[in-house]
Amino acid sequence: MSTTFSEPTQSPALLLLGNRRDPLSERGVDCPGDLPSASDPDLVARARAAKEALGDRVFILGHHYQRDEVIQFADVTGDSFKLAREAAARPEAEYIVFCGVHFMAESADILTSDEQQVVLPDMAAGCSMADMANINQVEDAWDQLREAGIADRTVPVTYMNSTAAIKAFCGRNSGVVCTSSNAEVALRWAYDQVGGVDGDGKVLFLPDQHLGRNTAVEKLGYSLDDCVVYDPRKPLGGNTREQLEAARIILWRGHCSVHGRFRKENVDSARAKVPGINVIVHPECTNDVVRAADYVGSTEYIIQALDAAEPGSTWVIGTELNLVRRLANQHTDKEIHFLEDTVCFCSTMNRIDLPHLVWALESLVAGEVPNRIVVDPQTQAEAKVALDQMLALPGITAPKN
Ligand code: SF4
Repeated sequence: MSTTFSEPTQSPALLLLGNRRDPLSERGVDCPGDLPSASDPDLVARARAAKEALGDRVFILGHHYQRDEVIQFADVTGDSFKLAREAAARPEAEYIVFCGVHFMAESADILTSDEQQVVLPDMAAGCSMADMANINQVEDAWDQLREAGIADRTVPVTYMNSTAAIKAFCGRNSGVVCTSSNAEVALRWAYDQVGGVDGDGKVLFLPDQHLGRNTAVEKLGYSLDDCVVYDPRKPLGGNTREQLEAARIILWRGHCSVHGRFRKENVDSARAKVPGINVIVHPECTNDVVRAADYVGSTEYIIQALDAAEPGSTWVIGTELNLVRRLANQHTDKEIHFLEDTVCFCSTMNRIDLPHLVWALESLVAGEVPNRIVVDPQTQAEAKVALDQMLALPGITAPKN
């Protein structure tokens, strides 16, 4: 059977290449060097030559949402946690070139040795979700919870997709980091610290309200009424003290701008068009999308599900478009559709393109370390407490060094 991959017909409005300031980007900075032209026909050869010249001194990590033109040079591909662990397991690599977004490179810097230098090819590759929780807002929220007499029964849990400062906040306050693969285990651990799932303790979940809600409701058995959303622009997050008292999980008002676009109507429409289709989505989607889907899981879970799927089966996938397109190309014996009818790339992931990768690698060959990501020692130490707590959870394998 030939692959029937349906994706949006319009070209994505990708961000422009080159040296320009993007005032709307959370990290928006100029590239401090001369980027090769995107039309340079030798880009692939240049990347290959620079990588060969660096040999084992460089290790290139590629997140699943990266473009194919970049992924072809990755030594390993994976989700953010897997990539940070892979970096930690390569102490011989002097340079870790992280083809992903800023918070991922921070995690790699935290988990690697001081001698290793982590490079992000484009500093404008941030994450809009991570930027929805800044440390000042979170500290302020915690103060308000403390004044309301709630903080001492609340455990902060942050998704991996957060800044190092937020991870450090969780480390300082006896909390934990989680990923989309282990959110249930992390939440159960957190509740165990304050009387268990059936007690009256709470979790402050940062920064993705949807992953927090989906895990609390679909995995731990809480009701939607047990969840409140904390809007950092309002006193007590827009809740009364009584509402916070009654809640079991306090969800930070953050979301993924990519997964937040999928709607239940997209699921209904896919089912109407292709009877028997399997619907698989990421848990950063809204709860009504998750409830309407057949399968829900992390990017690694989605990849494994497609690997295990029967030839001839039909699928509609709700996650980032670069990954869905790659899966469609890899599984030509299955019929794969994309769950949206408009463009759904992660624009900040797409900032890392071949010109930026070539520029970063050639700079390293020339003895310069461009766009180094450095987390200060105190933040690093506190964030590592929360990351180590995650690594100590059941079913999580620690890095090799
Ligand atoms: S896909 Fe969403 S969570 Fe991932 S980097 Fe992009 S905006 Fe952030």
